[in-house]
Amino acid sequence: MIAEIIAVGSEMLTPHRQDTNSLYLTAGLNDLGVEVGFKTIVGDSLRHLTSVAKIAIDRADIVVFSGGLGPTEDDLTREAVAAALSIELNRDPAVLTDLYKRYAARQIVMPPNNAKQADVLDEAILLNNKNGSAPGQYLDTTVNGDRKIVILLPGPPGELKPLFDDVCKPRLAAALPSRHLARRMLRMALIPESQVDTRTAPIYKQYADVETTILAGHAEIQLHFLSAKPTLAEAQARVDELAEKIEREMDDSIFSSRGESLEEVVLLMLGMRHLTLAVGESCTGGLLAQRLTAVPNSSSAFIGGAVVYTTELKTIFAGVSKETIDSKGAVSEEVARELAQGIRARTGAALGISVTGLAGPGGAPSGPDSEKPIGRVYIGLADGQQTQVRELNLTGDRMRIRFWATQHALEMIRR
Ligand code: ATP
Ligand code: MG
Repeated sequence: MIAEIIAVGSEMLTPHRQDTNSLYLTAGLNDLGVEVGFKTIVGDSLRHLTSVAKIAIDRADIVVFSGGLGPTEDDLTREAVAAALSIELNRDPAVLTDLYKRYAARQIVMPPNNAKQADVLDEAILLNNKNGSAPGQYLDTTVNGDRKIVILLPGPPGELKPLFDDVCKPRLAAALPSRHLARRMLRMALIPESQVDTRTAPIYKQYADVETTILAGHAEIQLHFLSAKPTLAEAQARVDELAEKIEREMDDSIFSSRGESLEEVVLLMLGMRHLTLAVGESCTGGLLAQRLTAVPNSSSAFIGGAVVYTTELKTIFAGVSKETIDSKGAVSEEVARELAQGIRARTGAALGISVTGLAGPGGAPSGPDSEKPIGRVYIGLADGQQTQVRELNLTGDRMRIRFWATQHALEMIRR
């Protein structure tokens, strides 16, 4: 079962308004095991709306319209769907009486236009709208031998949401064969998307009944799996089986198989090993500490650290020797090493991690660092026995270089 959601309204074709109803409807349809195959946004033009309605009814099993059920000239969803299906609109006397009563209660005479809110698609079931005047409509019909369910919902989110949840969803659930969706996500950092695809495609292609999507995120690659089956247990078993095979193939590259963020995984790992961590940050200016402390209860493993931007602070707070900075430059393997060791020693943490680099856009004006390219970053990790230092040559703008530096630092701790 494939659904199409059509958001009706010219305002959503401007830079000022976003279609949020379709996100809500997608989640609700997914709950019923229905996959959304298409989303369309269309302006309030009868011609465009009719054209879109025809296409959607042809290519999807369920078509849900949001908006255009109001009383004004530009509310044309009913007319367009009737035209697309070549069916009549019948003015429903009960709805009409209800509209008159609504106006009478406010002591105004109903403008004649409003009567069109009582127009109902032939054979459609009305969906009672407690929060507005236009009822929703639900039509379960056959077009060229195929079953089609067409649903009309009002645009205001305060009307659409309760109407969908309380009236429309139960009706759909009863009408559809029971399907349940299960999802899984695997997350990997610092590995190119093409490499992930080359290694995993031979595996996921064997699972034609699981929809696999590769998404390139913020300095990470995500693999999403989605399966729809008559029972949740069957769907879950299918995505789990595939996820496990891919986990075996990608092994250590996968930092999360249950959706956790990289910083959460690092903190969990430190907690399990009873290790504490402190940071000494230069070019990332606290971004690494910020990412770690954004995780609730991070204090069980993360104890703090220092942002040491200048030479003076590197020497005062982390014990980096001024001679090393003068001779090798602040952006150097040696400074990363001393900074990691120094911050570890001064904070009493089990692990000390350091980040020093050139995030750009300008380089160092003079001294040894002026020779180094923008994007050069050193990360040091000291555990009291040994200190590893990694040299990175990152690309992109300042924000990207800084974020990727923290991503490398977290991966270095995790592995
Ligand atoms: P009304 O009786 O209010 O005219 P309607 O069913 O005709 O209801 P629209 O005129 O299409 O609905 O939209 C009314 C308001 O609802 C819009 O101005 C907008 O604020 C909101 N709205 C409509 N569609 C969406 C959408 N897809 N996502 C979020 N908000 C929406
Ligand atoms: Mg309207």
